[in-house]
Amino acid sequence: MADPFSPFKVDLPLESQRGFNTRQIHSGAVPDPATKARAVPIYSTAPTVEVLEKRVAALEGGTAAVACASGQSGVFQTVLCLAHAGDNIISSINLYGGTYSLFKCILPRLGISVKWVQDSDPESYRKQIDDHTKLVFVETVGNPRISIPDLRAIADIAHDNKLPFAVDNTFGAGGFWCPAIEHGADIVIHSATKWLGGHGTTVGGIIVDSGRFDWSESDKFPHLTKTSEGPMAFSYASAFGNVAFALALRIEVVMEVGAVMNPFAAHQILVGIETLSLRCERIASNSMRIAEFLSDHPLTGWISYPDCKTMATHPWGSTHSIMTEEDRLSAGVTEDLIRLSVGTEDVEDIIADLSRAFDAIVLIHENVQTSVDRITPQTCNIKSDVGVNEVESSVVEML
Ligand SMILES: *Cc1c(COP(=O)(O)O)cnc(C)c1O
Repeated sequence: MADPFSPFKVDLPLESQRGFNTRQIHSGAVPDPATKARAVPIYSTAPTVEVLEKRVAALEGGTAAVACASGQSGVFQTVLCLAHAGDNIISSINLYGGTYSLFKCILPRLGISVKWVQDSDPESYRKQIDDHTKLVFVETVGNPRISIPDLRAIADIAHDNKLPFAVDNTFGAGGFWCPAIEHGADIVIHSATKWLGGHGTTVGGIIVDSGRFDWSESDKFPHLTKTSEGPMAFSYASAFGNVAFALALRIEVVMEVGAVMNPFAAHQILVGIETLSLRCERIASNSMRIAEFLSDHPLTGWISYPDCKTMATHPWGSTHSIMTEEDRLSAGVTEDLIRLSVGTEDVEDIIADLSRAFDAIVLIHENVQTSVDRITPQTCNIKSDVGVNEVESSVVEML
């Protein structure tokens, strides 16, 4: 019998025969029947968003995906779909600043508590699980300390307890760097604002259902497994099989909460995704060169090396500044941490820019002896004349 839900699903047997580079250009779309055009058109209704959903699901190896307004709304709506007042979720403390605030401040107001894991031992997740736990959550590459959790070990612990494992795989670049589902993730969340869109022009989020979690095996999610009362009497788990989570998320949360993606954002992200693997290759080789340059530089205190435009941030004073000093330190956000997000520019230009920043630091320290007030990047008279001067000026401003 034909699968009635095939319109909502990715054709996994077909997609698994295609490479990542082919999927990032073709998955989820067919040529326009009227014009034969290959490029995905913008329909100001749902079809453009649907192509994006299928394309990202295909890249990650999931059965279906739900696009939403931003990465933050993706994280929030995933939690809302699974945890209610009185429940808790287990999360690594190594998080993007916005997600940390959401978990620390907003979820508790809704009666959902967050139990934090501070260290990298997967067994620490097991210790936190109790009867009210509904979800285990990590980021593939924990922001900003660049911590890398053992996804498979944490997934196994979640699954031993019949709990779904959600991974914010934003830093896994749509599965190009880290196919999180292969490592045990049941739900994969992306801020499409970052690598997927790739050009800093659009905000978006997307949530992928791996289709692998057996909801009916767990008695923790009655709203997904029990038949609801009323005219729409059905159980998501038995009615929708391996797209149950995606459909529950879409119908019960995203449509009701309203943080949906608009078709114009979906179109921009689709265009961005076509070059995802190419950008990632350049970003990886640029990052390696810069890590080598920095590790050889006498002014570098320490370096940790495991985004599209190069950018330097100071998490202590910006993205993570709402955390208390103690929380920042326990999350590895020290005052001397400068986070470099390396882009696709010519690596020589980025290194030249960093060199100017180091020169400026030396100059500032010399000036400090004479007049503290007069020290600004301008008084140092080091304005870069090539393209990527944001790095130099932002590093200098941080100091
Ligand atoms: C940026 C980011 C988010 C939030 O995404 P927005 O699209 O900006 O809302 C969530 N998680 C990670 C890891 C991020 O880097």
